[in-house]
Amino acid sequence: MTAPEKIPSDLVADWSTLHRVFIRPEDEKSRQTLVKYMEQILFGLHDFLNTHVGVTEAIPLATLAESYTDTLIHPDPEKKLADVIKDIINQIAPRAVNVASPYFIGHMTSAIPFFMVHLKAIAAALNQNLIKLETSKVLSVLEKQVLAKMHRMIYNKPPEFYDSHVQNVDTSLGLFTNGGTTANITALWVARNLCLPPTAHFSGVEKDGMAAAMKAHDLERLVVLVSERGHFSLKKAGGILGIGNRNIIAVDVDENHQVDMTELVRLVEKFSRDKKTKIAAMVGIAGTTETGSIDPLPRMAALCKKHRIHFHVDAAWGGPVLLSEKYSNLLAGIQEADSVTIDCHKQFYMPMSAGMVYFKDPKALDQIAYHAGYVNRKGSVDLGIKTLEGSREASSLILDSALKIMGSRGYGLMIDHGIETTRLFAKKIKARAHFHLVTDPVLNILTYRAVPAHLQQHLNTDISSSRRQHLDACLDKINTNLQRVQREAGKSFVSRTCLKIRPGDSHKAVVLRSVIMNPYTTGKILDQILDEQEAILDNLDILDHPAPNIWR
Ligand SMILES: *Cc1c(COP(=O)(O)O)cnc(C)c1O
Repeated sequence: MTAPEKIPSDLVADWSTLHRVFIRPEDEKSRQTLVKYMEQILFGLHDFLNTHVGVTEAIPLATLAESYTDTLIHPDPEKKLADVIKDIINQIAPRAVNVASPYFIGHMTSAIPFFMVHLKAIAAALNQNLIKLETSKVLSVLEKQVLAKMHRMIYNKPPEFYDSHVQNVDTSLGLFTNGGTTANITALWVARNLCLPPTAHFSGVEKDGMAAAMKAHDLERLVVLVSERGHFSLKKAGGILGIGNRNIIAVDVDENHQVDMTELVRLVEKFSRDKKTKIAAMVGIAGTTETGSIDPLPRMAALCKKHRIHFHVDAAWGGPVLLSEKYSNLLAGIQEADSVTIDCHKQFYMPMSAGMVYFKDPKALDQIAYHAGYVNRKGSVDLGIKTLEGSREASSLILDSALKIMGSRGYGLMIDHGIETTRLFAKKIKARAHFHLVTDPVLNILTYRAVPAHLQQHLNTDISSSRRQHLDACLDKINTNLQRVQREAGKSFVSRTCLKIRPGDSHKAVVLRSVIMNPYTTGKILDQILDEQEAILDNLDILDHPAPNIWR
């Protein structure tokens, strides 16, 4: 193919520009340009984030949306790389959310160590595709090694077990995914297939489908049991896997926000008696998304063993706590799980987006093996044979490098800081007149709510149900507004969710939710966040919350 001749111009889509865009840093000048751009990204963006400790610029989304209505792809280039980078630093970054701010304590996305940017850039530069050996080579065996390290962290089998599986082409200890959602889907996919195995006239659910499977096993319904704190990815799995998301059964929680074991046992026994229903899996949560609670894993594991149920532990959030020498015991029982989800982009502090799922049985993933002629041939080491995802980046390289840089102790320090700072936050909330701690933190997540002092006395007294409803509505409105005003002001951020505060409550109350994982979030910053909330409350009182005259 010969390139058509054109007058060289910077902003024209021609072959000479194309060659420059696919920059081969052949000469010194283009090398220096690339270094300069990289510096802008590393330091321009980093300095920006550090000097703007606020969370986001106070511009309403509707106003922003007005600037993003250009739906035409321009035929000619509009900008050079240098200008694109400058625009991103000046216009996008300030209006994005500074999740790296120590005042951002609302979500599971937070600051990442600076070296992660380097590692991510390396993964992009190498551009390996882990779907198969032919596009990844050493990365595939490195990935198997990292998977074995993580499996060992969770299951701690004898060293010989790892020697025989670490590079075994016939077995898989786990796999990398795009995140916790696909990790959970993969775990339940395996569980579903295991509970609907082939029979004399049936080739298994993966091949013959759900209708044939139900007929072959004389069943009408599959269910999955998880506490009402279960992540909504499990419902998606129910939908995708043909189980039905209403059959992902939300079991009540007790006063510690752990799955209510009495209720769980009752349900297991009920479904076991019902010959037309089969429990495909039970899910224990190690760090619930809303409250950070950890289910009683050993008791759940024992129940699953007794009834031969697949036990999945969703440790998307809590998994890395295993690296803390002080707090790993909180996850005791996780080694009994048949499968375990852990996210990389949460408490492994990796950039978006990567997750993992592990299996106790190194043969479990055979349940979902797929082959194709041009890729993933039978008997090959191609990691894509047993993954939900197809093409996939080398997240394992980032995790492996991070573990080398941090050591388990380095991660442990961050985990300990998060847990201890959250406990400190709980004390501070309890000490304030206008706040109530709703969930005492086990890990680094807590919930609380504003209860203005003049409403407090009614909270725990016996009042008529209509007054109770009115009080609930008042408090919900106050907390909703408080969270919104603080978010819109853009200096700090806590999130909110709805919880039944006590077991048996019919009302789901609006509560504020805080997730503390940034090592720079200190007690002083938490005081400032509460001060700001009190100031907002003062104004809300006057402005717009429903006049609670009847409560005075
Ligand atoms: C975050 C989370 C998930 C989902 O993970 P994504 O990475 O967001 O897909 C699942 N379960 C729990 C407990 C989580 O905290």
